[in-house]
Amino acid sequence: MTSLGTMYAKRLGGFYGGTVYALYLNRYTPGVSRGAGLSSWLRNLARWFVKGILSSSYLSKILTSAEPLLLRGVKCGAGGARMYWLPARILDDLMICRTRAWFTIRRTRGREIPHHRGAKALQEAFLNQLEQACEQAGNVMLFQKEKPVSVKLTCDSNAVGLRGKVDAFLIIHIGGSLRGIALETAQTGAEHVLRRGYILPRLLLYASSLNLSLGLTTVAVYLSLSASGRIRGLMFRGGNVAGFHVKIPPMYNLCRELASIMERETPPKPRGLCFCAECRYRFLCPHMRI
Ligand code: SF4
Repeated sequence: MTSLGTMYAKRLGGFYGGTVYALYLNRYTPGVSRGAGLSSWLRNLARWFVKGILSSSYLSKILTSAEPLLLRGVKCGAGGARMYWLPARILDDLMICRTRAWFTIRRTRGREIPHHRGAKALQEAFLNQLEQACEQAGNVMLFQKEKPVSVKLTCDSNAVGLRGKVDAFLIIHIGGSLRGIALETAQTGAEHVLRRGYILPRLLLYASSLNLSLGLTTVAVYLSLSASGRIRGLMFRGGNVAGFHVKIPPMYNLCRELASIMERETPPKPRGLCFCAECRYRFLCPHMRI
């Protein structure tokens, strides 16, 4: 079995209240498609991730110096009976296209947004490998099957609440400190996630909620299960940095937009670039641009 080598991290810049890093393999690994190649890739990726976090002195410094990742205007577990709860995955749709978010809200009516079946199976296979890698490594514990972590967050400005479950939550003992890692995985390449900004608001929401509810300083990590692309993952930690700012809208702005979309009887017009050819609502949408 080939190893994926060591992990190295590069600081990309700041986002409001935190710093974002790209996680790289130290050598390029060609794409893996199916069958035994895919399971081997997932096993290697899980081991690379756990070993990389534990053995890199730079990552150790990043984790031990992390401050709580808190999002302005967000509360954990608040909200009364009149609160309208939406699945946190709606943020992914909102970041892609607000018209799409309108359709998803109408379709799911507050219920969980289902995963694509193939994506779910891949994610579960990876999390099984991650569990084994954590058991072998020591100093890191994975809470995934036994104790799923769910969050309920509300924004002051309106009556919309978001709730969801992070893919995995790890507790790591590093540099004499305990740190939490809120981990989200998907097949989408990390470069694409960074460019489009989706998945990230939801991930930051989970990490912020875990900070607030457990009182454990938690960093957020997105790990791409795709074998292509140079960047394997993205890590967010609390603590500001000057310089380039990753463009993620403030959470209260996103919640405000969701509240206004919910009140509409007809789909709102999209803003900016849309990828209508790949959209599941393209045959229903009056604003489709192909
Ligand atoms: S078809 Fe295009 S405009 Fe309509 S919801 Fe989908 S991405 Fe948005």
